[in-house]
Amino acid sequence: MNTLKKAIRIPLRDSELGEGLTIKRALPTRALRTVGPWCFLDHAGPVAHNMMNVGPHPHIGLQTFTWMIEGEIMHRDSLGYEQVIRAGQINLMTSGRGISHVEEAHSTGGLHLVQLWIALPASHRHGPAAFAHYPELPRWDDGAWQFTLLAGSLGQQHSPVEVYSPLVGVDIRLTAGEANANVSMELNPTYEYGVLVLKGRTKINGEMLDPSDFLYLSAGAAVLELARDGHEDLQLMVIGGEPLAQTPIIWWNFVGYSTEEVVEATRDWQAHSERFGTVLNTPLKRLPAPSVEGLVLHAHQRKSEE
Ligand code: MN
Repeated sequence: MNTLKKAIRIPLRDSELGEGLTIKRALPTRALRTVGPWCFLDHAGPVAHNMMNVGPHPHIGLQTFTWMIEGEIMHRDSLGYEQVIRAGQINLMTSGRGISHVEEAHSTGGLHLVQLWIALPASHRHGPAAFAHYPELPRWDDGAWQFTLLAGSLGQQHSPVEVYSPLVGVDIRLTAGEANANVSMELNPTYEYGVLVLKGRTKINGEMLDPSDFLYLSAGAAVLELARDGHEDLQLMVIGGEPLAQTPIIWWNFVGYSTEEVVEATRDWQAHSERFGTVLNTPLKRLPAPSVEGLVLHAHQRKSEE
């Protein structure tokens, strides 16, 4: 179990992903490495001009999970998939033991998205790569609140997104000016949770949050109480899952459990190994891996288990 207790509010800083795209990184941070198997979370935008162009780069040990709020991105990967993702859709890429991909701006308007990684369990970390696009997801209303189930299950609803660990992801919106500004969401007490505000301000279990905060809830919480603050549009994302027994190493674009695993993946990428294939039809340049000279990394047992 996680040693972090109850609710912790983690401040998020803006950083540049290049070409003017502002991101807020909620995972991993010094304060918090993972929420269930969710091990990376970048909230990108909103920005007025879509300039996201990330050249060919490799992944191991994870699923990349893209939730598009505004704008269009072209995904191309070494399996040969070419898929435009639009608002309200998810792209899910499973790296297995190796894949490479690019993300190219596909529209000139605004851009707003959340990019997450899910650490793969041992059963799938060394398996084949895969890609899936989910244009339709379960949606329902609770009064004025609109729920979209991104991953996992909530009540009677089940997301089609194929994941390999117990986890959940939910998008929740409230349109400006709507009455009925309170709602609650039942939580799985065996999961830990993270809440990210994408737009507006909200009070969650008594904590006031805006997009500069990430709220962590340790396992054991039974309910999420949401209350609007103000009259603007409100949008948030809730992620959760069973706490991992071991916190993985995240190094560059790799998720692993030993220095050797990460070093081998880096050398394979530098050597243009078949392991990561080739992304065709992209004008973007291949991203070089940082040096692994002297690299020593450790996966961590959860503190209470040490
Ligand atoms: Mn990537």
